[in-house]
Amino acid sequence: MQRIRIGTGFHLSLVVGGILVAAAIASIAFGQWQISESISRNRTLDNVVTEGLQLVQLTNEVLLYSEDRAVRQWRGQRDQVEELIRRANGLGENGAAHLRKVAINLADMQPLFDRLVTPENRMMETTSPGDVAGILSSQLFRKAILLQTSLRGLKEYSEEELKDAYAAGKTRTFLTFVLFAGAMALFGVVVSLLFRSAVLRPLQNLEQAIRRVNAGDEQQRAKINGDDEIGVVCQAFNGLLDQQEEHRRQLQYLAYHDVLTGLPNQLLVKDRLVQAAAYADRSGGRVALLFLDLDNFKTINDTLGHPIGDALLKAVSERLIGTIRDTDTLSRQGGDEFLIVLSDVKTSDDIASLADKVLERVAVPFHIEGHELSTSASIGIAIHPDDSRDFDALLKKADTALYEAKEAGRNTYRFFTERMNAEASEYLYVRAGLRRAVEQHEFLLHYQPQIDLTSGAVVGAEALIRWNHPEHGWILPSRFVPVAEDSGLIVPIGEWVLHEACRQLAAWRATGMQDLTVAVNLSGVQFKRGNVERTVTAALDASGLPPRLLELELTESILIRDTESVLATVHQLKEIGVRLSIDDFGTGYSSLSYLKRFNVDKLKIDQSFVRDFSSDPDDAAIVRAIIQMAGSLNLRTIAEGVETSDVRDQLSACGCDEAQGYHFARPLPPVEFERFVKANQAGRGRRGPAAA
Ligand code: C2E
Ligand code: MG
Ligand code: MG
Repeated sequence: MQRIRIGTGFHLSLVVGGILVAAAIASIAFGQWQISESISRNRTLDNVVTEGLQLVQLTNEVLLYSEDRAVRQWRGQRDQVEELIRRANGLGENGAAHLRKVAINLADMQPLFDRLVTPENRMMETTSPGDVAGILSSQLFRKAILLQTSLRGLKEYSEEELKDAYAAGKTRTFLTFVLFAGAMALFGVVVSLLFRSAVLRPLQNLEQAIRRVNAGDEQQRAKINGDDEIGVVCQAFNGLLDQQEEHRRQLQYLAYHDVLTGLPNQLLVKDRLVQAAAYADRSGGRVALLFLDLDNFKTINDTLGHPIGDALLKAVSERLIGTIRDTDTLSRQGGDEFLIVLSDVKTSDDIASLADKVLERVAVPFHIEGHELSTSASIGIAIHPDDSRDFDALLKKADTALYEAKEAGRNTYRFFTERMNAEASEYLYVRAGLRRAVEQHEFLLHYQPQIDLTSGAVVGAEALIRWNHPEHGWILPSRFVPVAEDSGLIVPIGEWVLHEACRQLAAWRATGMQDLTVAVNLSGVQFKRGNVERTVTAALDASGLPPRLLELELTESILIRDTESVLATVHQLKEIGVRLSIDDFGTGYSSLSYLKRFNVDKLKIDQSFVRDFSSDPDDAAIVRAIIQMAGSLNLRTIAEGVETSDVRDQLSACGCDEAQGYHFARPLPPVEFERFVKANQAGRGRRGPAAA
């Protein structure tokens, strides 16, 4: 039902109240008017009585003196009384009767008076004029008495009527008051009832709802009684609560979900694992926690940009959701890390087959904004209750297993074992030992020869760092370089490498060794945090090595990351005169334009393509393409990871300039390197320049 708006109701009641007041005033005014009418009538009758009595008085005078003056006065007085009688109107029946009596008496007096004061009239009578006058006088006197009596009657009536009029007026005013008061009271009751149901009750409801909401009842809503003003306020209030509820839901969602993929976050996945574990404990089952990390995500993110990286993460999460069961949980940990909780699994085989399925699905290329992105994943697995009953401990163990999977070459999974635990603590140990290693000079450089494929001559060496750990012995860079990069220690370590490599080459030159170049690996962190050009200049100055003999190996990701500042550094390095090569070329996403802009001298073809050069036609095609492209850009090429003479020959046939790998020599300590170079020189001297 459409309700009257409260504002309209208020105005209506004002109008009704006004009408009631006006009616009361009108009724009282009407009573007063009636009283005043009665007073004016009474005044007329009073005049009739007064003037009539005057006439009676004059009659007596005439009867006594019969003077002309009195006769004239009498007549004038009679006319006046008659005029007054005529004017009196609006009398009740009683009043009219009294007046009529007065008029009749007056009329009766008229002929008597005329005959009395006109002697001629009297003469016509049979009796003597004196007797006639006497008779007339006594008759007139009697009539005058009658007139007086009727006048008194009229006066009494008039007074009575006035009294009655006052009494009636009083009663009417009283009644009007009573009626008005009653009507006002009734009106007040109706208005207050309406006010209660239309205003107070809804306001109370609203207040109660607000109280309950404040007390924490989030579902509480105000009752809406209609679409009047309060109804509208209630609706707005409810709307506000709905909005708040929605925000709360969103906040709750955000607290438990990852914004990018909408997947549960670590908080929620922890909760799910605890629940699944409780169920597994009852049913005698197990719960597996899979820690998944994309293998080359960082490269994709750095080279193609965050929007593509984000789109890839979303696509991966969708694929993973399609791979697991409804009862399992997929969560994003942040970055390119995901967690999968497999609830109620029986054997390790079940877990392994799912992990296989996940790896297979992730390995299918993704098509994102025109790019075909190939990725793979590594997975670490920990099991409840076998490895631990605690979520955090399981997570740590799955992480350790993940590290192991990465170490094993990526695109694979590993179950957590106690051995891994020991190795993980070693990882931490490595991190702690690195700082000391810088101070204690525990590092050393090995040199891997670089061979010119046409002449077979050693033309340079790549300096590769080694760590001689006092307890763990030789540690390879793949174990500690990432740790050094994490902690920033790669900056002082890298400085040492540059100085040491330049010093060593200068020392070899001083002993008369042929013109060799030395290639030094630079980390992206050195570009970001260190001052590369200053370090390079310092190392060259300190050793006295000609800049053209120093080659810096950069990775594609360094060039693509923070282009402008890297570009400036690279230009400065080129100005110093050092050479630049791109290490592990082919694994990143650098384009030809980058190579041109950075003015590099050499491309170092990544060993992953070189390794299978002779067996995998795809890899062979890539290597050929790189060599051709480098040729057209006037860049030299070097292939790393050459392990067989077969590969060496084919590379040579493709036009590759240089090669490096176990086929020629492993990275060697300085003394052995020196020996290798001398043997190479001697050998070539014997066999001629074309053979290695
Ligand atoms: P990289 O610069 O690509 O170096 C080539 C790696 O391949 C070296 O491993 C080398 O020993 C290995 N290698 C050479 N020939 C062959 C072969 O025929 N077969 C196989 N399977 N491997 C071969 P290493 O010395 O363990 O170094 C690993 C990585 O550590 C290097 O890759 C480089 O990225 C980094 N690294 C080494 N020394 C330094 C350094 O002084 N500074 C920085 N920032 N990174 C370094
Ligand atoms: Mg290198
Ligand atoms: Mg390399």
